[in-house]
Amino acid sequence: MIKIKNSEEIEIMRESALVVSRTLGILAKEVKPGVTTLFLDKIAEEYIRSQDAIPGFLGLYDFPNTLCMSPNAQVVHGIPNDKPLQEGDIISIDCGALKNGFYGDHAYTFAVGEIEEETRKLLEVTKQSLYEGIRQLKVGNRVGDVGYAIQKYCEDRGYGVVRELVGHGLGRKMHEDPEMPNYGKRGRGKKLMNGMVVAIEPMINLGTHRINHLSDGWTILTKDGKPSAHFEHDIAIVNGKPELLSTFKYIYDALGIVSDEELEFNSTTL
Ligand code: MG
Ligand code: MG
Repeated sequence: MIKIKNSEEIEIMRESALVVSRTLGILAKEVKPGVTTLFLDKIAEEYIRSQDAIPGFLGLYDFPNTLCMSPNAQVVHGIPNDKPLQEGDIISIDCGALKNGFYGDHAYTFAVGEIEEETRKLLEVTKQSLYEGIRQLKVGNRVGDVGYAIQKYCEDRGYGVVRELVGHGLGRKMHEDPEMPNYGKRGRGKKLMNGMVVAIEPMINLGTHRINHLSDGWTILTKDGKPSAHFEHDIAIVNGKPELLSTFKYIYDALGIVSDEELEFNSTTL
C-alpha cells in the first residue's frame, strides 16, 4: 500500500534526507587514494548520530555497517572494509538515516583521483538518467514512465540497466510501496500521486546489465567485471510536480563543482 505523506511529514522527511546529503558532503572531502571504506563508514556514523539521527542501514535486514560502499564493479550493497581506495577507482556510497521517525536514503558515486574517460562518462550518464527519471515524477504519469525514461536514456547510450534492484517508496520504512524500477513501459504501473515520496536510484553498468552475488550474502557486482555507478535522490510529489528532498550541493561544495542540475526540482513553497 502506498503511504501518502502530508506536507508536515514531507518537511520532516526533508530533514532526514538532508542529514544524508550533509553526510555525503563530508565524505566527499575524505574520498581519496589510501583511505579505507571502513574509515569513511565511521565518519558517517559519527556525523549521523551527532544530528540526532541514527544510521538507516546499520542493522537493517542485518546489514553490518552505516554505509553501503561499492567500488568499481560492485553495483550496490558492498560492505565497508580495511582495503584502501586506489587512484582511478570509483566508489558508490549509499547512505541512510532515520530521524524523527522517517528515513532519508541517497547515494553518489565518487571518483577516487583521476579516473578513465569511459568511467567518467558512466558516472555522468547515470547521474543524468536519475534526473531524466525524476522529471517524470508528476501527477498524470505512472511508475512505468519513470523507469522508461531512465532505461531509454541509458540504453540509447549503450549502458546496462540493472534489473534486480529498484528504487522505492520512502517514509517510516526504508522500503515502502511502490517499487520504482529503473526500466519499464510508458503508461504502465501505479499512478503517481501528490504526497508520494520515493527514492529513485539508477544502477547503471558500463557493460552488461547482468549481475552476480558475492558469497558474503550482500555484495552485488557486475557479471562482466566492468564498472557500475549508482546515484540516488529522495523526491516528493508536491503540487503535481517532483520536488527534491535530498541534494548533492554539499558534495559539490566540497569538490568545487558548480552545477544547476537540481534547480528545476527545488521547492517552490519554501
Ligand atoms: Mg540508498
Ligand atoms: Mg534506496
